[in-house]
Amino acid sequence: MKLIVTTLMVIFIGLNAPISAQNNENVINSLFLNSLNDTTTYHQLRYLTKTIGGRLTGSPQAMAAVEYFYEQLKQMGFDTVYLQETKVPHWVRGEKETARIVSTKYGREDVNVCALGTSIGTGNNGIVANVVEVHSMEELAKLGIKNIKGKLVFFNHPADPNTYATFSSYGSSVWQRSNGAAEAAKFGAIGVIVRSATLAHDYFPHTGVMRYQEGIEKIPAVAISTNDADLLSSRLKAEPQLNFFFKTTCEQFADVKSYNVIAEIKGSKSPNEVFVVGGHLDSWDTGEGANDDGIGVAQSIEVLRLFMALNLKPAHTIRAILYMDEEVGQSGGSTYAELAKTSGEKNLFALESDRGAGLPLGFSFEAPDELIKKVQSWQDFFLRWGLYSFTKGGSGVDVEPLKELGVPLAGLVTNSQEYFDYHHSPNDVFEHVNYRELQLGGASMAALLYLLDLNWVE
Ligand SMILES: [Zn+2]
Repeated sequence: MKLIVTTLMVIFIGLNAPISAQNNENVINSLFLNSLNDTTTYHQLRYLTKTIGGRLTGSPQAMAAVEYFYEQLKQMGFDTVYLQETKVPHWVRGEKETARIVSTKYGREDVNVCALGTSIGTGNNGIVANVVEVHSMEELAKLGIKNIKGKLVFFNHPADPNTYATFSSYGSSVWQRSNGAAEAAKFGAIGVIVRSATLAHDYFPHTGVMRYQEGIEKIPAVAISTNDADLLSSRLKAEPQLNFFFKTTCEQFADVKSYNVIAEIKGSKSPNEVFVVGGHLDSWDTGEGANDDGIGVAQSIEVLRLFMALNLKPAHTIRAILYMDEEVGQSGGSTYAELAKTSGEKNLFALESDRGAGLPLGFSFEAPDELIKKVQSWQDFFLRWGLYSFTKGGSGVDVEPLKELGVPLAGLVTNSQEYFDYHHSPNDVFEHVNYRELQLGGASMAALLYLLDLNWVE
C-alpha cells in the first residue's frame, strides 16, 4: 500500500511540478497522464474515420483528409504547418464487386470478394470459368499451362497461425495477393481469387495492393473472405468442375497530385536537426482506415500536442508527418526522403506508428546497437506504462526510405493479435480503436522522442 501511495504521489507531483530536464521520470509520467485526460486527437480520428471515411490514395476522400488536418494543425498552433506535394497513383474501385460459386450440385452461392488494389476490372459482364485451387507458386508451376489456361486460379494458402507474431502470419500468405495474378497469367489464367491475408475466420474480404509484371498480361484479381475461401475449397473437392463468377469494374487512371501534411515544433538549439514521427493519412476504401492508419496519424499529432501542452522545448525540431500513399505507391515517404537529401536539414531519427491501436508494448528499431541500448537503459520509465520491449526489428513503410540517408528508424510495437482481423477490410472501423490504447501509444511515442531529444549526442 505504501508503495502505491508513493507511486501515485510521484505521478501527481509530476503533473503539477514545473517541467525540468532533471526530472525525466516526472515528465514521462506527465506525458502519459496528460494524454489519458485529453480527447483532442481521438475526436480528430473520429472525424477522419466517420465523416471522411476510407481514403484511397488519389481519391476525393484522401484530399479531404489533407485539407482537414492542414486546418486542424494550423488551429492547434504548432510552429510550422505545411503541405509537401507528391504524385500518387489513382485507382478507382467502381461498383461493389459481386461473386458466386456456380455449381450443378449446390446451385448458386454468393460469396464476399473485393478487387485487389490496382487490379484491372472484369468489365460489365464479369468473368466465369472453371477454378483451379493452389497453395503455392510451385504447385502453380507444376500444374502448368495445360491445366490452367482459360481458368481462374484460386490461391488458398492460409496465413500461418503457428506463430505469436501476427505480422509473420500475414507475411506467410500475402505473397499470393501481391504476385498471384502476374504468376497465374504466365500460365494463361484469366483471373485470380485470393484468400484474404488474415488469421480471422469471417466474411470480410481483405484488399491490398497487387503488382502486375512488365510484359505479362494483366488479369483481374479479387480477394475472397476466409470463410468463403473455405467454402469454395470444400465445394471444389466435391465438384472439381464447378464454375466461379465475379464482376469488378475497377479502373486505373493517370497519377494525380497529393500531399504529405507536416507540422512541427522547432528545435530551440538545433532547428535544422529533426526528429520525425509519422503515420499514413491514406487508407483502403472498403473500411474507415481506423487502425490502418488513422491511429498513426492521431498519435503523431498527439506527440506534438503533448510537447506543447507540457511546454516542453525540444532542442531539436520535432516534426509530425501525415504521409500520403503508403498503401499503393508509397510516394509520400519517397518524396519526403528525396527532398530531405537537399533540404539542408539533418533527419536524426524517424519513428512510425502503423501497426494498429493495440496495447503498446515497446518499440522495434532499425538502428545501431548503441541507440537501442540507450533506450533500454530508460526502460524503468516505460515499464509503469506497460512498455517492455525495445529490440531490433521493423520500423514502418513510410519512414523506410530514410534508411538510405542513414537515419535510424523505429516503429511503435503493439499487441497485434487483433490487427489483422481489421487490416484492409470493411471491419477496420473507428469502433475497433480503444481510446486508452490509442492515447497510451501517442504518449509512448512522445516519451521516446522526449528522451532521445534530451540525450542526443552525435
Ligand atoms: Zn498502414
